Amino acid sequence: MQLPRNPSRSVRIGTVSIGHDHPIAVQSMTATKTQDVEATAAQVNMLAEAGADVVRIAVDSAKDAEALAEIRARTEANLSVDLQENYRLAAHVAPHVDKIRYNPGHLYHHEREKSWQDKVRFIADVAGEHDCAIRVGVNCGSIDPAQADSFAADDSITPMITSATEHCALLDTLGFERYCVSLKDSDPAKVIELNRRFAEARPDVPLHLGVTEAGMPPEGVIKTRIAFEQLVSRGIGDTIRVSLTVPNDRKGEEIAAGRAILADIAAGRVRSVVDYGLETLNIISCPSCSRVENEAFVELAAQVREMTRYAKNHALTIAVMGCRVNGPGETDDADLGLWCGPNYVNLKRGEEELGAFGYDDILPRLKSELDVLIARQQAGSA
Ligand code: SF4
Repeated sequence: MQLPRNPSRSVRIGTVSIGHDHPIAVQSMTATKTQDVEATAAQVNMLAEAGADVVRIAVDSAKDAEALAEIRARTEANLSVDLQENYRLAAHVAPHVDKIRYNPGHLYHHEREKSWQDKVRFIADVAGEHDCAIRVGVNCGSIDPAQADSFAADDSITPMITSATEHCALLDTLGFERYCVSLKDSDPAKVIELNRRFAEARPDVPLHLGVTEAGMPPEGVIKTRIAFEQLVSRGIGDTIRVSLTVPNDRKGEEIAAGRAILADIAAGRVRSVVDYGLETLNIISCPSCSRVENEAFVELAAQVREMTRYAKNHALTIAVMGCRVNGPGETDDADLGLWCGPNYVNLKRGEEELGAFGYDDILPRLKSELDVLIARQQAGSA
């Protein structure tokens, strides 16, 4: 079946191009410690062999940026770098990568006296100088605070789209055209709405699709499939990532899952969309990356799924996140949230912090909180 494609422009990332009529590129991200050069280079090469068109690496410090030069020397893969708060690291990483991803919601933390426009100008200059593309990566867990404050508290969609479009407008003004956009949420229905509305406003901008914190397979693949089917079948999406919580040696499954979803959509093997998550327990967990501070996180995510099976018919969301960078913000919308530190797991009920518990103590504590929420739900519906 010939799928329609939005008239997005072509954006080159190293040896691969996205947008226009190019095949939809499939990406993944390393989860090893970036400063462990051997392990990270091995994972990059494993992902490239599994068919990754682009591999992303997280860089949070000058030491991570230094490691990147050594990783570059060990791989031919197209590399993207994920910057969080320190936008100035762009200057250190750009010589070694093909794409820089920045998050508009994270541009506020460093050099607060400087405008976000100046910071984007800096990143665009550096990217232009070093032949890099840019991704404006907007995420539900870290919405630009100025945009979030301008809209109703229960509307996360409009501030995300407004944030993306204002960054596109600035990059356009700067004459920087090699960029794409992503709008990610852990709820497939929101991913669909975000990307449909953005594509309507800016059909020329290539879109990177993903459901963030999709969780473990098979649920993580199913959530992602639901979103991608509704977007790719309408011509929306130029590159994809399936984010899965799997151990490091299984990261290649993200690529296999992405290619399988695309092949199924092209062949018309599309399942009808269910009203996802409204009637059942929804466990979300991040795919893990180099920021994970305790490897026990992946096992904990699996244990949470096992332990909570008894609650599968309750419409509640539990989020399990791997680090302090995104964990605190991205658990806010869950009924119960866990984010992992080096020695403790932090437990939250919505935005409320309930305390930090050892890895051996967290499951019983989570269960008692879950039981309270179930009892409340039952009392409410009685
Ligand atoms: S929550 Fe932290 S560990 Fe998990 S993918 Fe996001 S940045 Fe990485």
